[in-house]
Amino acid sequence: MGFENFGTVSFTTEAKTEEFINYLEQGKVMTTRCKKCGSAYFPPKMDCPSCLNSDVEWFEIADTGQLVTYTIVQYGPSGFEDEAPYTLAIADFDGLRVFGRISKDVDENDINPGIAVKVVPVKSGEGKIAYEFQKV
Ligand SMILES: [Zn+2]
Repeated sequence: MGFENFGTVSFTTEAKTEEFINYLEQGKVMTTRCKKCGSAYFPPKMDCPSCLNSDVEWFEIADTGQLVTYTIVQYGPSGFEDEAPYTLAIADFDGLRVFGRISKDVDENDINPGIAVKVVPVKSGEGKIAYEFQKV
C-alpha cells in the first residue's frame, strides 16, 4: 500500500515512503533519522537533505509532544472543501517538528500552544489512513 491511501484525498504513490503507511497500519507513527549525521525528519525522508546520505533508520515519534502553533482552516482547498473547519498544527516531539491536523474530538477551547499532544494513526471510512494529534 502506498500514498494513494494516505490522507483524505489521493496522493501519487511514493514507493520510497511506503513504509510510513505500513507503520500507520500497524498503529505507529514513524519517521526517519539519518544514520550518518543524526538529523531527524518529518515527514520521513529516505535521503538526508543535510548530508545527502541515503542510509536512514526508522524510529517511532515520541509518545508526548507539545503543541507549538495551530490554525483553524475555515475554507478547505480543493479536495478538502467538505472537511472544513479543521485545525492544522505543528507539535514538537523531542525537538522533532511534526505537522498535522488536530482531531475533531478535541474541543476548540482546549487548543492552546503548549498543551500536551500525541500523534496517532486514524482510519477513515473509505479505507484511507492518516494521522492526527490528540490531547494527552
Ligand atoms: Zn545526514
